[in-house]
Amino acid sequence: MRKIEFKIKDLRLGGDSPVLVQTMCNTNTLDVDASVAQCIRLIKAGAKMIRLTTQGLKEVESLKEIKNKLLSLGYDTPLVADVHFNSEVAIAAASVADKVRINPGNFAQVHKDAQNQFAKFIQECKKYGTAIRIGLNHGSLGERITTMYGNTPLAMKEAVCEWLSMCQELDFEKVAVSIKASNTVVMSQAYKLLYEQMIKNGIVYPMHLGVTEAGNSDTGRIKSAIGIGILLKDGIGSTIRVSLTEDPENEIPAGESIVRYFEDGTADNILSLISPQIPQRCVTLSYKDLYSCSSAHAFRSEQERWNDFIIRLSLAVGTLLLENKIDEYNLTDSPYSPAVLDTLKENILQAARRKFYHPEYIACPGCGRTQYNLEETFNKVKEKTAHLKGVKIAVMGCIVNGPGEMADADYGYVGQGGGKVTIYKGKEPVYKSVPEQDALDLLLRLIEENH
Ligand code: SF4
Repeated sequence: MRKIEFKIKDLRLGGDSPVLVQTMCNTNTLDVDASVAQCIRLIKAGAKMIRLTTQGLKEVESLKEIKNKLLSLGYDTPLVADVHFNSEVAIAAASVADKVRINPGNFAQVHKDAQNQFAKFIQECKKYGTAIRIGLNHGSLGERITTMYGNTPLAMKEAVCEWLSMCQELDFEKVAVSIKASNTVVMSQAYKLLYEQMIKNGIVYPMHLGVTEAGNSDTGRIKSAIGIGILLKDGIGSTIRVSLTEDPENEIPAGESIVRYFEDGTADNILSLISPQIPQRCVTLSYKDLYSCSSAHAFRSEQERWNDFIIRLSLAVGTLLLENKIDEYNLTDSPYSPAVLDTLKENILQAARRKFYHPEYIACPGCGRTQYNLEETFNKVKEKTAHLKGVKIAVMGCIVNGPGEMADADYGYVGQGGGKVTIYKGKEPVYKSVPEQDALDLLLRLIEENH
């Protein structure tokens, strides 16, 4: 078996290289100064790669300016162009970005001639030494694939494999892959299926791991830790992004907490501590066990310490819950109150999809396409709907990708620009182009009428 490893600037990606933490700007890419400033903040926070929304040729030009400004200021961090729908944009971005992410579900929708456009794109990537990511999301599977395999992890795997075969035919290996979903079961199954297929084929490409539309705060971190952790535990994954509906700077410490847990030996130690108990289907851990191998890490605040703790606990027990190896856990000697730990347990059990206590939120992290104050709106939606146990509610930043990406949400709040929002019931837009100030009430009314 051959593990593909390649360089993006000075970074090594794939093979046995360390797992890299990356993130994405949520600035408008046309706003060069704001994007440069955010990139610098993200680099200082520890981002090893930064992705920027690149929806058109104007954004490719801006990306060039952003890159040059960063270089002139001494910042050489690889920049990734995030391209959807338009293969001409991907082709243009290949000469500017260090890596281009394409979404196979919607690549070449302008030209319809996906294979030829892809060949042109790869030719440009070869010419400029640009890497690519085939970044498929559960919500954006093409019609042909879903007709053949349903809307399943298998369909996701098959879709990515088709594009990897095209890369092989074109003799191009600077390829990473991702196969994300917001549901941790779907996401982990899809990655595992793809990894098994790559092993069978004898070539393992670097995998970019992430739980998409994970939301924010504790639940976003817990979902991401469980989904990413279950794969890293099995040696799957070369780079990770913890997508949060928050300032992207917050994604970096969350990603670093996950990586540190595996690198400092805690993952192995916890497994050796609890494995013999697994048949009892309930594990008992002490708070200290979570930090048994951790060299003193300087947390800047109590919030950061808490975030690290919930990620460690999710990695230790949430992954076992997701794998259905245990049904319960007990945590002893923790500095937190029983009430706080009870809520945390509910969130971990729900993220592992074992028990449902709260609504299921699907919220995108936002990007250069975001049309409104996503984080603030998402928090308002959460506040007003917290009692709706089991209801799946999506809050998405744009009308271009939002409706497709909100997957199997029961209701959706999708920003469409110009202060307007569209409210969905399933895939059906029920209230179109409503003013933002009325949108939350209409969402609540729609849910009330149907539940
Ligand atoms: S759904 Fe959200 S993250 Fe995805 S493209 Fe739209 S605004 Fe960006």
